[in-house]
Amino acid sequence: MSTSVKAVGTQAADQPLAIMPITRRDLLPDDVRIEILYCGICHSDLHQIRNDFGMAHYPLVPGHEIVGRVTATGSAVTRFKVGDMAAVGCIVDSCGTCSPCRHDLEQCCEAGVTFSFNSPDEHLGGMTYGGFSQSYVSKEHYTLRMPDTLDPAAAAPLLCAGITVYSPLKHWNAGAGKVVGIIGIGGLGHVAIRIARAMGAHVVVFTTSPEKMEDARRLGAHDAVLSTDPEQMKRFASRVDMLLDTVSAKHDVNMYLQLLAIDGSLVLVGLPPEPLEVGAFNVVVGRRSFSGSNIGGIAETQEMLEFCAEHQITADIELIRADEINAALERLERNDVRYRFVVDMSTLN
Ligand code: NAP
Ligand code: ZN
Repeated sequence: MSTSVKAVGTQAADQPLAIMPITRRDLLPDDVRIEILYCGICHSDLHQIRNDFGMAHYPLVPGHEIVGRVTATGSAVTRFKVGDMAAVGCIVDSCGTCSPCRHDLEQCCEAGVTFSFNSPDEHLGGMTYGGFSQSYVSKEHYTLRMPDTLDPAAAAPLLCAGITVYSPLKHWNAGAGKVVGIIGIGGLGHVAIRIARAMGAHVVVFTTSPEKMEDARRLGAHDAVLSTDPEQMKRFASRVDMLLDTVSAKHDVNMYLQLLAIDGSLVLVGLPPEPLEVGAFNVVVGRRSFSGSNIGGIAETQEMLEFCAEHQITADIELIRADEINAALERLERNDVRYRFVVDMSTLN
């Protein structure tokens, strides 16, 4: 049993997105139905649309930064009622019993995570369809509560960009006394500047875009470095405790590794489709680490939303209509966005 709803998706990597009907399952006892109000556009949506990782299944409906209003709840649901604001991020299911799941690390589920789009859908068959659509049905456990004090459109990007940077910043102890470098000022990077600053770190931004240097300071960075200028890069040689690398395309990580202090870590969250090369001496000298992090668990996502509410952190967004999604994806590909597109899903009705 299921309901047909309108969505925006694509039939192939080289096709523009278009309106298409999809189905949402009828509510199971622990399900919540959400009318989607806003959905952010993450670079991962673009990677998947273009099949950059060779993992896309078509038709593909992207969108995993979903904020909306609860329109129905299953009989066993206790944390949500009709009318509540709610959110869905990257993860909509996991086994719930393996060690990572029991330790709130659903993103590392040993049986494999079900993502909000492009994952096998155990209820309806086929693949899960994402937030570029009118509604979503998700299990209560994987549904987030939205703090009332955050603007829902500007908070949508927190559901992926926010948790993806909050989790490693917390894990690697970004805070007072630490120099934290953010590489790339895009959707993830600009939220990372705000969160790292709120955590108390000394924040330095590394950008390839001269025109973003002023913005870096407005967003809360203490210092901004044009990473294409070797003289500016030298100022931070062996001085940075943690680097959060949000770059979406292939780039040289070695020039950044050389900025790390003893025991410093470069944490990759960006997903360049091609392998990156690491020069041995850049990690051996200074006992440095090259590491990575993938989104975050459900409990930590809720914690991040509360943290952002407390510090009034949201994204800088360009709110667009559903019929502007293709143009927005082209601009995202050209690194022309300040700093996250969010789709007003009411324009799909
Ligand atoms: P975005 O908004 O496009 O930002 C990426 C930034 O990287 C750009 O603003 C640009 O910053 C920099 N950049 C782009 N191309 C570059 C190049 N060729 N060389 C150097 N710098 C370049 O993307 P996003 O949505 O923040 O996502 C960033 C990456 O994280 C994507 O690969 C995405 O798939 C990935 N991601 C990973 C996770 C995870 O869990 N690990 C979660 C979400 C997203 P400047 O102009 O400042 O240089
Ligand atoms: Zn994402």
